[in-house]
Amino acid sequence: VKRDYEMIDVSHTVEDGMITYKGLPPPVITDHLSRESSKGIYSPGTEFQIGKIEMVANTGTYLDSPFHRYADGADLAGLDLSSLANLDGLVVRTVGVQERGIPVATLAELDLSGKAVLFHTGWDARWRTEGYSDGTHPFVAAETAEYLARSGAALVGIDSYNIDDTKDGSRPAHSILLRRGIPIVEHLCGLGELPDQNFKFFAVPVKVKGFGTFPVRAFGIAPTR
Ligand SMILES: [Zn+2]
Repeated sequence: VKRDYEMIDVSHTVEDGMITYKGLPPPVITDHLSRESSKGIYSPGTEFQIGKIEMVANTGTYLDSPFHRYADGADLAGLDLSSLANLDGLVVRTVGVQERGIPVATLAELDLSGKAVLFHTGWDARWRTEGYSDGTHPFVAAETAEYLARSGAALVGIDSYNIDDTKDGSRPAHSILLRRGIPIVEHLCGLGELPDQNFKFFAVPVKVKGFGTFPVRAFGIAPTR
């Protein structure tokens, strides 16, 4: 089947035992109901599996809602779909740049209003290695986060370990963006497969009340090249 668009997956696969964030426990994936034990419940030849996952919110590629940072901020259930889906996407490429804090000059002359702004740093190449969490990952500098918020960005994403420098306990990028109600997506991957512009971006978590962060299947839809 020939389509005039392609869907580009930019999220990591979640699996049992996988570490996303240093110090946080990995997901534990088990059967609540195994196929074997389901045989006694259904008709002969009919079986099901019901899985169970125990995980922290910050697992795999995930979206932070304002509630992650602020008790009075919108939680996952309070997010408007228009802030998560069918957004005009923009990829900002900083692969190979030595400076860790992405400077505001990187965004010069770009129209950010209403956009999902995704920073392609290439850090995802280190996913599930020691180097992923070695504390030297690229991040969005405070002045850049301010500029994104002022310019009306709808969502901000990054393929790095954290959108902030983990050495800065005030977490300025999280604080600035989430205060303004701008969701954040971290641990994206494969952003090199997306065009710079002219695509739609989706990163939709489950509507959980009183919860701030949740894994997403993040993807872009772009015209076939
Ligand atoms: Zn975060």
